Amino acid sequence: MEKENIYSFTLEQLSTKMVSLNQKPYRGKQLFSWLYKKDATSFDMMSDVSKAFRKELNEKFSMNLPKIFTKQISSDGTIKLLLELEDGKKIETVLMKYIYGDSICVSSEVGCSMGCKFCASGLLKKVRGLKVNELVGQVIVMNRLLKEIDSNRRVTHLVVMGTGEPFDNYDNVINFIRIINSQFGLDIGARHITVSTCGIVPNILRYGKEGLQINLAVSLHAPSNEIRDKIMPINKMYPLEKLIPSLVQYYKDSKREMTFEYIMIKDLNDSDECAYKLVELIKPTHGFVNLIPYNEVIENDFKRSSNNRIHSFHKILLDSGIKATIRKEFGSDIDAACGQLRARYDK
Ligand code: SAH
Repeated sequence: MEKENIYSFTLEQLSTKMVSLNQKPYRGKQLFSWLYKKDATSFDMMSDVSKAFRKELNEKFSMNLPKIFTKQISSDGTIKLLLELEDGKKIETVLMKYIYGDSICVSSEVGCSMGCKFCASGLLKKVRGLKVNELVGQVIVMNRLLKEIDSNRRVTHLVVMGTGEPFDNYDNVINFIRIINSQFGLDIGARHITVSTCGIVPNILRYGKEGLQINLAVSLHAPSNEIRDKIMPINKMYPLEKLIPSLVQYYKDSKREMTFEYIMIKDLNDSDECAYKLVELIKPTHGFVNLIPYNEVIENDFKRSSNNRIHSFHKILLDSGIKATIRKEFGSDIDAACGQLRARYDK
């Protein structure tokens, strides 16, 4: 029988599992603490677990983690890892160093089938969603690397904004978040966790009802269906007249403000008129806007808006009472910035 990966289970699932192995439920918490608080690298390290049960754990479970295939460090300290999964597939994970902490950007799928025209990740097409242990594994591997650099550093913030559409792999992403958010696990605060979606309406509604205090970001990128249809195929299935009401409902259910990501692409979505339309569109949602200077990728002809254009657009939003920021860019010299992840290991 194939071993199950021990990093696949939420605390609740692990406790149930322990009971099914004739153990007391508290074993779940005990194992969780070894895995996430003490960062055990083997079952044999778990000194308060009997030898006989450690043997059983070794027989039934693996502790396999993704392997570091390549590691790049940018001049601004951004770290990009290409990780190899057990079936040989590769994914990327990025770490950004902020004043307030270390923020990891995890991938949710191998490839992506959303097909956004401006994004390099979408060129790969989805191969499969990541398993829970592969999501958790990205954080553990990065934490171990950070500890080597400086024993005081660890992942404090997390965004699910790497390759893939998290709401296309919903259940695994939610269980992953339960594990890293658990006070008995990695204990990354809910307010430090953000999931970004291109707008899969039914799962936005589910997410609002999960009762987790985590953040939602929505890749909007256009103030009208006319423009959004041109760049995001998902808009055909969930156009703005479906997306926006789902976000109003999300706000009612979760009481959490959401962020709109808006890439600034020259002559496509960056005019004053677009800014005014955007204001009207998102007013009912209580959302705020994060303007992202477009990162050019060689496979298409989209160009980044000028800094002047970005600032004028920003000003219109602010003057109209919409909270808005311009995203700081990380790691573009190692292709680690937004939209540049593509699991390329041929260069
Ligand atoms: N599928 C999810 C998660 C990916 S998040 C989503 O769509 O939200 C990655 C963010 O980077 C998204 O907002 C995406 O639209 C944005 N992005 C993609 N390509 C980009 C590029 N070339 N320059 C800047 N941002 C980009």
